[in-house]
Amino acid sequence: MNPSHSPSLATHTQARDLDRLLHPDEAKQIVLQHAHPLAHETIPLAEAAWRVLADDLIATDDHPPFPAATMDGYAVVASDASPWREVIGVQTAGHPIDVEVTPGTAVRITTGAPVPPGADAVVRVENTESVDDHVIIHQEAVQPGENIRPIGFDLRRGDRLLPAGTLLGPAEIGLVASLGVDPVRVFRRPRVSVLSTGDELVEPAQPLAPGKIRDSNRFSLMAALTAGGAEVIWAGKGPDDQDALAAVLRERIADSDVVITSGGVSMGETDYIKAILDELATVHFRRVFMKPGKPLNFATVGDVLIFGLPGNPVSALVGFELFIRPALAVLSGRREIDRPRVTVTLAHETPPTDRIEYQRAVVRADSEGRLIATTTGNQASSRLVSFVGANALLVIPPRDEAYQAGERVEAILLDPPLPAS
Ligand code: AMP
Ligand code: MG
Repeated sequence: MNPSHSPSLATHTQARDLDRLLHPDEAKQIVLQHAHPLAHETIPLAEAAWRVLADDLIATDDHPPFPAATMDGYAVVASDASPWREVIGVQTAGHPIDVEVTPGTAVRITTGAPVPPGADAVVRVENTESVDDHVIIHQEAVQPGENIRPIGFDLRRGDRLLPAGTLLGPAEIGLVASLGVDPVRVFRRPRVSVLSTGDELVEPAQPLAPGKIRDSNRFSLMAALTAGGAEVIWAGKGPDDQDALAAVLRERIADSDVVITSGGVSMGETDYIKAILDELATVHFRRVFMKPGKPLNFATVGDVLIFGLPGNPVSALVGFELFIRPALAVLSGRREIDRPRVTVTLAHETPPTDRIEYQRAVVRADSEGRLIATTTGNQASSRLVSFVGANALLVIPPRDEAYQAGERVEAILLDPPLPAS
């Protein structure tokens, strides 16, 4: 990497020059220093999917709580050599009956049912023949414990199963249910306000008058927020008027854990966000050494995080991905914050860059696990189409020569690699 292009990672504690270009890793560090897990709340388990567990979850009982049949068949005494056995009952799941299996007897049993006392094996029904009220076993030898899940086989009382900070996906929430925890304590979700700025913006359903474009950032950011575990409490458009915009922002800051604006952070006449943040908040940085999205403001008011994203749709989403998504993960109490960073092989040449460039790409894995990256065409920051279908951001370091097909570069995986085409 050309040293003149690479600001040092370790200098931000020195002069507080807000317009200094920060390395993206340093900018992220500063954001994370200001992000703290939110409080807990107790909610019904049925509403807890994709929430983050607030407490370590310990098994309070053995599971299964009784020896359970793993097959439909007959519960028997394994060492019993009788040529046939009298069927003395039917044991279905959920309804224990009062019988004891002894040599010469068997109990018909279904999967998941408790194995009756006396029995120490279940012979699968496929290996038996039923004759009147007797059963004949067509099997060489019956092993003790055969087709029985003993007490505590799946979970042992005292097992530490899920640590606090676990995201409750299908398996995790199922485990919470099987431990009998309902309601469940989770981290509160970050409450986020999203504000688009720019007098050129109209609503998607509105016709376009001259000079107008449709607001896309608000919808992109709302989707990214939902995927990032946040609750969008307010989303709207701010006027290109400093006082009115400041009033809206002040109100949003009072109500939110995170406030995100897009647009109005460059050098134009109506780019008021910078000035407003200077007045309302403590600004931590304004510019990041990256492409797209160099002008990116980060400020705080108390624990409220405020991100002033640039207006270009790709810049806004890249800024969200690099700085806001990890911050939301910390606020949400998540243990895992980062996306995987992997090495990928470029499928084609890509032009040189003078800043760390986050190129949108489709990464495919071949059968050997080699990851091949194809970029999504023209990487202009206005071209939202360049983010459509992308599952990775390539991290292209600055240098003077083009990158060649076959070169290996770093990539942030946003979604799993696709299969080879
Ligand atoms: P700005 O950062 O305000 O200078 O805006 C940079 C570019 O992004 C301009 O071309 C804006 O029209 C465009 N832009 C700003 N906000 C939005 C938005 N919410 N949706 C789509 N494009 C936007
Ligand atoms: Mg603008």
